Amino acid sequence: MTSRRTRERLVQRLREQGIANEEVLATLIETPRHIFIDEALSHRAYEDTALPIGYNQTISQPYVVARMTELLLEGGPLGKVLEVGTGTGYQTAILAHLVDQVFSIERIRPLQEKARKRLQRLKMHNVMLRHTDGSMGWADQAPFDGILVTAAPREVPAELLEQLAVGGRLVIPVGDEHQTLKRVVRINEDEYKTEILESVRFVPLLSGTVR
Ligand code: SAH
Repeated sequence: MTSRRTRERLVQRLREQGIANEEVLATLIETPRHIFIDEALSHRAYEDTALPIGYNQTISQPYVVARMTELLLEGGPLGKVLEVGTGTGYQTAILAHLVDQVFSIERIRPLQEKARKRLQRLKMHNVMLRHTDGSMGWADQAPFDGILVTAAPREVPAELLEQLAVGGRLVIPVGDEHQTLKRVVRINEDEYKTEILESVRFVPLLSGTVR
């Protein structure tokens, strides 16, 4: 139930749903999702669905993880990437396979601690984690070639736009009840191009932190 074979079947379904980046699909085959989920639910790890992870949060649906990663990578290889909303660390692990360095922020400390252990277990050494409110980004490490946000704000935070490198891209769910996935590309110092891609459902991006 948690074998590579099961992941191959999941990836075949994602391919049928339009995920086309073979590098992303190969990474989903390589990366166990069940270790990011509490044992009581791990038998459902390879269903294409979001699952509860405690603290009112969820691990994202595999389709959404694959889609957001593919959208982020479309412009070519990425150096530094910021993730806002580490959660279980599953999306973090996928990114860490595909880009040079991942900086990931989580506001709920116990979730971050679990993610840290899982990422260590997978020997992901190109990941830095930080416990803070990610809507401010990570100014010390900016600019980023890519920013991926896995919780939905009502509007794109200005700090994240500022921390994008020129040519860099931000993939982010935006909205309240009705959310859409947006991709913002920084064209030059002052100009950004926004694409509105598809309907999604994420937990809200919240301010402050939980210890
Ligand atoms: N990428 C995760 C998805 C987790 S759900 C995964 O693959 O499992 C979204 C996460 O964003 C939650 O853990 C939530 O606590 C976190 N989050 C919400 N608002 C945040 C904020 N302002 N800063 C950092 N993390 C935030």
